[in-house]
Amino acid sequence: MRATAPLLVATHEGCAAHEPPPGHPDRPERLRAAVTGAAAAGAEPLPVALVEEDVLAGIARVHDPGMAERLRRACERPPAIFDSDDNPVSRGTYRAALAAAGAALAAAGAAADGSAGTIWVPVRPPGHHALRDRAMGFCFFNNAAIAAEELLARGCGPVAIVDFDVHHGNGTQAHFWERDDVFFLSLHRYPCFPGTGAGDEVGAGRGRSFTRNIPLAAGADDAVYREALAMGLEDVTRALRPAAWVVSAGFDAHRDDPIGGMRVSEEGFRAIGALLREAAGKSAVVAVLEGGYDLKALYRSVQTFTAGVSGSGGP
Ligand SMILES: [Zn+2]
Repeated sequence: MRATAPLLVATHEGCAAHEPPPGHPDRPERLRAAVTGAAAAGAEPLPVALVEEDVLAGIARVHDPGMAERLRRACERPPAIFDSDDNPVSRGTYRAALAAAGAALAAAGAAADGSAGTIWVPVRPPGHHALRDRAMGFCFFNNAAIAAEELLARGCGPVAIVDFDVHHGNGTQAHFWERDDVFFLSLHRYPCFPGTGAGDEVGAGRGRSFTRNIPLAAGADDAVYREALAMGLEDVTRALRPAAWVVSAGFDAHRDDPIGGMRVSEEGFRAIGALLREAAGKSAVVAVLEGGYDLKALYRSVQTFTAGVSGSGGP
């Protein structure tokens, strides 16, 4: 279907302030690639005003009180490791993680008040591995979970979260494990980091059958992803009627990615976007950047994905 509302971009320059040591895959340059890729697809900026207190309130719905303060303090004495060897911090890491969560909150707010059909949230550090009380896998605050909680807090639920990053979104799954107001669907390489995401992980209690994992073998290509996503989306819409969608959009399944081990092309990401839009219909889609570590592949994949999910058909 065609877009019924504009494609917007919610980001913040502060996201570049996280500077891991050279050689770390999450380079600050990723931000520019992910922003300009969407601009090439015709995206318009959504202003993001960062009010620290408000962002911290949004973070507190997902993370232990004290985790943000712990990160702020760690950044006062860089370089340091935060919770995991994968998570080195620089002086600007707290500011970047706050900016990422703030952009996700702003996007969710715009989606809830109906002002956009698709909102692309190019931010870093990524979020989907971040647990309630522990950072891991390059992630500090769980931006996608924070966006979903904001949508629900504004009365825009139930929410479907679709995670197509090559790695399993363990942090997001854990947060919504016993919930029936959020459906979590993940497609990912398995077995692989972080080790979770087997097909029999389906949620518990009220949340049983509201988590759906589709593990994929290494080397999966466009056709494999398309088929798996179509199957997963049927399960989402069978379980609930989402008022809004949050997407953990990682592009590390791209064939040129240095760490993903999959074979998805830019056209594959366009098709993923189009399938998501078809499932979402006229509902808002908030798509948050997760992984994707080859700069050219990231730029091109963001361009095709945002075109696909916004229904613009090009470029
Ligand atoms: Zn990843």
